[in-house]
Amino acid sequence: MKIVKEREPSLELKVLRLLKPRMNLPDQQHYVNLEKGYAGELKLDVWLEGLRNDCLVVNDLLLTHKGKVFQIDSLVIFQSMIYLFDSKYHKGNFYLDGNKWNTLADDEINSPLPQMERCESLLRQLLRQCLNTNLPIEAFLVFTHPEFTLYHASPKLPAIFPTQLHSFMKKMNKLDSKLNRSHEKLAEQLVAQHLNKSPNTQWPEYDFGHLKKGVVCSKCSSFMIERGRIWMCAACGQTENAQAAILRSIQEFKILFPKEKITSNKMRKWCAVEGDRKKVYRTLTNHFKKVGSRSASYYID
Ligand SMILES: [Zn+2]
Repeated sequence: MKIVKEREPSLELKVLRLLKPRMNLPDQQHYVNLEKGYAGELKLDVWLEGLRNDCLVVNDLLLTHKGKVFQIDSLVIFQSMIYLFDSKYHKGNFYLDGNKWNTLADDEINSPLPQMERCESLLRQLLRQCLNTNLPIEAFLVFTHPEFTLYHASPKLPAIFPTQLHSFMKKMNKLDSKLNRSHEKLAEQLVAQHLNKSPNTQWPEYDFGHLKKGVVCSKCSSFMIERGRIWMCAACGQTENAQAAILRSIQEFKILFPKEKITSNKMRKWCAVEGDRKKVYRTLTNHFKKVGSRSASYYID
């Protein structure tokens, strides 16, 4: 098994993680859902680490075909077939009533099936029409939460339940598979088509003036306190060298404000650094290139 593309949090999740300690998120539940989804995807990765066969794993693809955007959690490319896995991290007891998915308390939830079928169909079209391959695709919902149960599910439901993860992995490892250059090329082409930013994302509104300033703990997201050459977190005890903490905060600023200039004054405000002006200045000159002079100067990578 070879991983062609590693997973990382979406830009949306990265931005929301950085905003959360600094403002009240307009849709807290949406953020919680994204975190849960990502936790499920990481579980999927752990499961896929069990692959011993000759295959390629491509994670976390955001693709577009005929103007339609679709997201794939994981693809596993074998010699004569492709598996598409859609990670689901539902916890608790659910039952199926026809095509309707319900909790035991009779609250209907969105069926995850149509979305996966849409992905599968768009991927099939993309492979046939643009990437010249006829490899068959089999798609599955993969439920990775150990406390998930679905009553009344048909054996025909394209799903892998927590109790089936082990046997499904054994089945994949027994497939006859010997990859060649064409499989690698296919994986590379898919990665090349990956979009970094979903056009459908609704970004929360935020601006520099209204965000809470300071250095945020990398472990627990509380604000840290400056203690000479180190910053420390009163909430979890984490400590960090001052330069590393300031550099990390500047990188966070760059993700939140990609178009804004990095200036010494602004970074002092951003990190809420008191006293000696040199503290931030030193980090900037050590890690960035200074452009312009005097009051108009700013820093670039
Ligand atoms: Zn902390």
